[in-house]
Amino acid sequence: MIRRAARHLLYHALNSDVSLARLRRALRRHGVVVLMYHEVWGDSEEIDAWTVTRRSEFLRQVEYLRRHYDVLTLDEAAARLAAPARGVRPGVVITFDDGHQGLVDVLLPMVESEHLPVTIYLASGHIERQCHMWFDRVINALQVAEPLEIDLGPLYGAGSFHFSGVPGQATWLEIDRLLEVAKSSSIERCEDLAREVERQAARAARRAGARLMPLRPDGVGALARSRWIEIGGHSHCHGLFPLLSPAERRESLQRNRELLREWTGREIRHFAYPSGEHDAASVCAVAESGFATAVTTVPGIWTAATPVHRIPRVGVGRYDDMSVFRIAATGGIGITRRLLLSGPSARI
Ligand SMILES: [Zn+2]
Repeated sequence: MIRRAARHLLYHALNSDVSLARLRRALRRHGVVVLMYHEVWGDSEEIDAWTVTRRSEFLRQVEYLRRHYDVLTLDEAAARLAAPARGVRPGVVITFDDGHQGLVDVLLPMVESEHLPVTIYLASGHIERQCHMWFDRVINALQVAEPLEIDLGPLYGAGSFHFSGVPGQATWLEIDRLLEVAKSSSIERCEDLAREVERQAARAARRAGARLMPLRPDGVGALARSRWIEIGGHSHCHGLFPLLSPAERRESLQRNRELLREWTGREIRHFAYPSGEHDAASVCAVAESGFATAVTTVPGIWTAATPVHRIPRVGVGRYDDMSVFRIAATGGIGITRRLLLSGPSARI
């Protein structure tokens, strides 16, 4: 109880206008914050997925950033860190991961009308094959309209998971807890888990709509034609890089780059590690492939001292209201989220 009260106090102290302004001033002198999103949907479309931000929320967040920050491309951010200038506003870079259809249907018109620079890191395997990545299969399967129990005890030693069938953040927290069972596993084990969840979830009625869809290759081309969008790599297989052999990593990087070049007609210069997972060998492989920068999901601030292939990022998702977002934009939310909120770790 005391711990909870202390957390509450700390949260409100951090979230005051005065402390936020102080944090932004520090940021202006020392670095840039890179924000990580995944997907944007229209407000009327319901889904319980932290990865899906509502259009109106995203616009409100952009409006806040425009008021207090310079929204930069990755190259502009790197140039600013190389030659810091006095008096500039703090910098922020907006990024999206993976590659879902909402990026074309909802995000693209917004970046065009808002003149908003964004970087979109695309995995290519699911786009080429037009299938779902394992975590999207799990998220889609668990959008149920009636109570459901998923038992992963016998196969994964992970116990059971309860879904009430009532839409809301509690459903997402249970999905996130289930995703954590496989997050540090090989892609084969993750696919097995998704198959098992789909099998057990098939007995419950599904909510109408509520289905993440992969981007199509022609959609990638449409995104790349926008002057406000830079397409980056996110690997072909989306397997965790530290778990892949050197040959598998090379192959996944190469295939991803070839396909994205083919679909966009552009050079692919930036990279995001799948699920943010990286070790020394992964960092070397990405640097040797010629990527100018690579982002992780380690929360924090990108400074002049940060290795360019280990740039931190702060995740933003569906259940983060403006008070959480304001802290996220200072680079502080990673620690704050874990300390103060019971929200997900957001590594997808
Ligand atoms: Zn990803």
